[in-house]
Amino acid sequence: MSSLPETSKRGEPNRRPCADYPLDQFFPTTESKGGSPSAGEKLALRICATCPLAVRGVCLEEALRFPAYDQHGVAGGTTASQRRSIIRGRRAAQLAEVA
Ligand code: SF4
Repeated sequence: MSSLPETSKRGEPNRRPCADYPLDQFFPTTESKGGSPSAGEKLALRICATCPLAVRGVCLEEALRFPAYDQHGVAGGTTASQRRSIIRGRRAAQLAEVA
């Protein structure tokens, strides 16, 4: 997380729990198709659930910004399917603002 300081405002480490696991843990071979997360995604989501909120928030926003992450894998405590849904919701909100 290059955009985060090493510690939170309360002095807690902004540590990424995923750093202790192989990268492919976050890119399971089976992904949900809009429904419940697959077994592989659930494992990664459990790891993300232990991530400090500030770190998870930054991770999610980064994943939403980069289309490659939008397409595959678990990041920021979300599946790719969930991020696509967030992106659709944000686009709809932006369109509603300009209309
Ligand atoms: S939220 Fe992001 S930084 Fe935190 S464990 Fe999950 S993938 Fe890693």
